Amino acid sequence: MDAVDDRIEISTSSITDDYDVDWNHKLGTGISGPVRVGTKRSSGEKYAVKVIIDRPKARQEVQMHWKCSRHPHVVKLYQVFCNDLQFPGESESRSRLLLVMELMDGGELFHRISQQNGFTERQAAVVTKQVALAVDHLHSLNIAHRDLKPENLLYHNKSEESPIKLCDFGFAKLDKGDLMTPQFTPYYVSPQVLEAQKRHRKERSSIPVSPYTYDKSCDMWSLGVIIYILLCGYPPFYSDHPTSRRAIDKCMRKKIMTGTYEFPDREWARVSENAKDVVKRLLCVEPGSRMNVESLVQHPWLTEEAPDTPLQSPMYISNKAHREHTAATYEAQLKQMRIPDRPVNLKPIESALNPILIERRLQSRQNTDIGNARSPSPSSQTIPPDPANVKSMRDVIAHCLLPKAQTKKDGDTIMELCEKIDVAIKENPDVEEIPKMLGDLKWNGTTFDEEPKLMEVGKIFKTILQKNINKIR
Ligand code: ATP
Repeated sequence: MDAVDDRIEISTSSITDDYDVDWNHKLGTGISGPVRVGTKRSSGEKYAVKVIIDRPKARQEVQMHWKCSRHPHVVKLYQVFCNDLQFPGESESRSRLLLVMELMDGGELFHRISQQNGFTERQAAVVTKQVALAVDHLHSLNIAHRDLKPENLLYHNKSEESPIKLCDFGFAKLDKGDLMTPQFTPYYVSPQVLEAQKRHRKERSSIPVSPYTYDKSCDMWSLGVIIYILLCGYPPFYSDHPTSRRAIDKCMRKKIMTGTYEFPDREWARVSENAKDVVKRLLCVEPGSRMNVESLVQHPWLTEEAPDTPLQSPMYISNKAHREHTAATYEAQLKQMRIPDRPVNLKPIESALNPILIERRLQSRQNTDIGNARSPSPSSQTIPPDPANVKSMRDVIAHCLLPKAQTKKDGDTIMELCEKIDVAIKENPDVEEIPKMLGDLKWNGTTFDEEPKLMEVGKIFKTILQKNINKIR
């Protein structure tokens, strides 16, 4: 297969010509629905069939999976069909992609650990090594998985020696260098992307540097969390006051953003220093200092035989409620760490429709006119201060749209944003649209139940301010 044009062909013939799909046999369920069992008519062999709505993102998943598929620790993708299917309860058929994959019959990683009698540090290292090799393969192809979590690590069969493999390429992304080209606006660029750009430039000028992108280092952080849980059974970052409403609350967010976690003696006293060293190097807040996958596969914890010390993890992992809580919080963490897919294009400042700039331009013009009519003085050009209610709204917009918010750590940014919104609401009690429109972004009166996109919050305030500027002045 040509490495440059390494794409899988999507067949439009009916999957049922070649496979007998058991629609009732569900191997597991994800956000896109259940994964079912299909039997190849010609050979009687069993496969896993994942069904996803045919959208550009789904097609991207297919191609990403295909590119990564030829590795012993990645679930193999064999064939893809595009068929119109109508499931019970649907009013009409929809075009769907059917991914025929290697059947992973050994279950998910944590499910197996919870069923086992014991789990040792050596076994944890063996699992880690296999996952690290899969990630190494992806990163060597310049692909970030961006959804590394225990549910996406599956055992091939039920035997003790079964290999573990990585699945679900729904968030995988090929880093073509877009994040490193000057396509970003300097307002929103994160320090990590700047770092990536710097390295990219060096690379182009043939200075050897280690491959680096923010997305790839997000995979390494995820690995750090998985290894931590493997070794003790609970996640490194958790809330002191968990609520069911929010997967990540302020307290937990702060811990993540500051990299605050511990190795409590009860579970960690007997864990080797090598294992702890791996965790420390992966759970490093600064992506540029985080260990990359090449270093991980060469770390002594993985190259030498790890001690056969029994771990406490099965005790925690076997608790279903505990496992589900861990999965939910982990999911939320991953969501926050992915870089948005679309790069933001830089707009010339003169054509920007930012409400702050529009207002300033208007005011500056008015002041110039007044200044021209009367005798001009330097002070006639200065913009009068906003009344408190307008200022509080502008503060929110500025917080969302200006670079400071982008370069700060996310947790602090959201906390500050909530404080600013609170002030804006108090200063503008008559503007009912503020809480109403924020409700769509899951604002609960104090904070957001789900982390909002700063751009969206900024746009809401921009719309409200433009609509109400006369009323609130
Ligand atoms: P997510 O919600 O994690 O994004 P998704 O809808 O993209 O999920 P997958 O993660 O690919 O779907 O699969 C969902 C579940 O189905 C997995 O967690 C696993 O339990 C099961 N599964 C997926 N692929 C296979 C396979 N090849 N063999 C057996 N079971 C599988």
